Amino acid sequence: MPLDRAALDALRSDARALLPDTAALRHALHRTPETGLELPRTQALVLEALEPLGLEVSTGTGLSSVVAVLRGARPGPAVLLRADMDALPVTEESGEPFASEVPGAMHACGHDLHVAGLVAAARLLAARREEIAGSVVLMFQPGEEGDHGARLMIAEGVLDAAGERVVAAYGLHVLSAILPTGAITSRPGTLLAAADTVHVTVHGRGGHGSMPHLALDPVPVAAEIVLALQAMVTRQFDVFDPVVVTVGRIEAGTTDNVIPADARIEATVRTFSEAVHGLVPERVARVCEGVAAAHGLSVTVDYRRGYPVTSNRPEEADRVARLAGGLFGERSYVTAPQPLAGSEDFAYVLEQVPGAYLGVGATPADLDPRTAPYNHSAHARFEDGALAVGPAVLAALALDRLAEG
Ligand SMILES: [Zn+2]
Repeated sequence: MPLDRAALDALRSDARALLPDTAALRHALHRTPETGLELPRTQALVLEALEPLGLEVSTGTGLSSVVAVLRGARPGPAVLLRADMDALPVTEESGEPFASEVPGAMHACGHDLHVAGLVAAARLLAARREEIAGSVVLMFQPGEEGDHGARLMIAEGVLDAAGERVVAAYGLHVLSAILPTGAITSRPGTLLAAADTVHVTVHGRGGHGSMPHLALDPVPVAAEIVLALQAMVTRQFDVFDPVVVTVGRIEAGTTDNVIPADARIEATVRTFSEAVHGLVPERVARVCEGVAAAHGLSVTVDYRRGYPVTSNRPEEADRVARLAGGLFGERSYVTAPQPLAGSEDFAYVLEQVPGAYLGVGATPADLDPRTAPYNHSAHARFEDGALAVGPAVLAALALDRLAEG
């Protein structure tokens, strides 16, 4: 039985009633941001906020995560709701009255709203324990910004924290621009890209700039590799399942008349399907090795896999759309016309279990969503009003999925 109108109306009004408390927690988190995998102050605030709810709470060993299991009154499956908790190494210039008090750290990606929002969702669900058949795993995750925190929490058992594998997982991200506050977006299939890194070293032999035939010059080979990678993107991959390769760093030599012994290239590689994500490392290596071999040089290719593609199950994206519309009206939900080229480590969770990731607009009312400073900017601001929306959607997703049994 999907959630009925009365249940959705109650979730909406209860989330709104919690808003002052939710915003106060968010402001406390925002003042004391922490980066990376060790977030002791953040962890303490989460533990304190969850304390009255009577959950089964545990903390991570390799990172300062919090996992809380909420048991319903009756047995049933388990679902997972996730919030990332880490800040960015940015010095805040937002002008907010609750701005960061830590130089060089800022909640510039809105993860403070995710944490406070998941606490609010826990409160909404704890108040409905009698109606719940099953369990909800609350995943408070450090280290989203490049530290693979979700993968580490999976290794520590978060997906089985309720005593059995969760049957679905949901998470959201707030946006300080693009969408007005309260607007909700997602899409079936790929929502976010996979982001890999490749470091290439071209090995040559140094020599005098006047006599290149006595050396093995790595510089023209490196230049040819940069261009060959672009030809690879357009000639070897479907334009409708694209690859982006951007060489962001290239380095060789010390002066104009000395041929250096080697040259280095660093690139980011974005892909939008796991099929292409799987093909790219070998093809990049083949291009680099082939170009170098054509000139009698060799290369070392160090291909580093980043976060996988974040992909929503179609039926779970449909659930997001239905519940968002039911809670806040049909016009509150926008199907994203195409994936975004950013990446997100909730992808590791969605590789293991069905689920969905969604975006919630948090553009301040005094700014234009088209021009407001975006996530990661030192000027980014996030509207507290989004905290009346995200928790209601997360709680509704958990209740609706659990009601399916
Ligand atoms: Zn983020």
